[in-house]
Amino acid sequence: MKPLADLITANDIEEMLGHIHAMIALVENNGVLVSWNPAFEAYKDKSPEAKKLQDCFPESEGAKIHEKLNAKRRDQFVVELGPDEDEKTIFCDCTFIPLADERQLFIAERFDTDKSVHEIIQRLNRRVSMFQVESESAKKIASNKQKEVDAVVAQVDELSNVDALTFLPNRRMVVRKLQDEVLRAQRYNTPFSISVVDVDFFKKVNDAFGHLVGDEVLRHIAYQLRDHIRHPDVVGRYGGEEFLILLPSTSATEAADQAARLCKWVREAEVPVNRHILKVTISIGVAQLQPSADTWDALLNRADSAMYEAKKKGRDRWVVAE
Ligand code: GH3
Ligand code: MG
Ligand code: MG
Repeated sequence: MKPLADLITANDIEEMLGHIHAMIALVENNGVLVSWNPAFEAYKDKSPEAKKLQDCFPESEGAKIHEKLNAKRRDQFVVELGPDEDEKTIFCDCTFIPLADERQLFIAERFDTDKSVHEIIQRLNRRVSMFQVESESAKKIASNKQKEVDAVVAQVDELSNVDALTFLPNRRMVVRKLQDEVLRAQRYNTPFSISVVDVDFFKKVNDAFGHLVGDEVLRHIAYQLRDHIRHPDVVGRYGGEEFLILLPSTSATEAADQAARLCKWVREAEVPVNRHILKVTISIGVAQLQPSADTWDALLNRADSAMYEAKKKGRDRWVVAE
């Protein structure tokens, strides 16, 4: 059997195009309409001014047609023409067939759907957009929660660096600062000293007046130390009744001057507790970093030994480590 195209004449084709229900139009590559069949004519009557194919369809579908036209390949796609008089939504099953002369043949077959199907599609679309809105607000809530969590973590982190009794930097914090200062002094070759401060006979205070009074006395000494050091010195609570003072850019001689002043301040201070006036003293061990020989813990050990030296010598005094 011979192919149909070989057997029919140009006239026959014209006849045939007039009879079929599909809308057929010949267009330039930019969509300008060249020629079309009666089925397309009937549809085009709605937009008589349209010069381009894309202008014959609802605006919402124009971009899709333009895109498919530019693709210049056979590709099936659906275009929505909107509702007809019976409220049925009309769709077109469309194809572009690129021709040899840079033109394209547009073929569209109409099909319609029931109103109820259309409603279902619209309902589903509404659901999808509601879901999108909900997921957006869920994302916002999650992000706000994350911010709250971050703020709490930051507070906990800060609190975990602060001693709860005296509000001074705690052991963890003051040791971290000690490590930093040792590195800095070694890098810039600047002097750096520390003082280990221990309260004398503190056990007796606890034994005589109770632990709570002991706490009050510790707080009092902590404030004395904090208020009598200069910037950028740092004082932290190193242990039970021991404090550590860091003195950046300070020699042992200058640190010893400070130690002398601190011993005097604490000695002369009167601590009012339970209608009593308590007097306490402190012993201090001072050590200066030996730039090439010391690590932070070696420095700490030397200051600690000097402090015990001060205890041995009778307390209420300071000793500078060799
Ligand atoms: P020294 O002069 O030799 O330092 O005598 P000391 O009594 O101070 O030394 P010791 O180390 O024997 O006692 C320290 C006491 O400090 C023991 C402990 O009960 C008390 N202490 C440690 N931390 C706290 C605290 O947070 N509150 C109170 N109230 N007492 C504390
Ligand atoms: Mg002690
Ligand atoms: Mg003590």
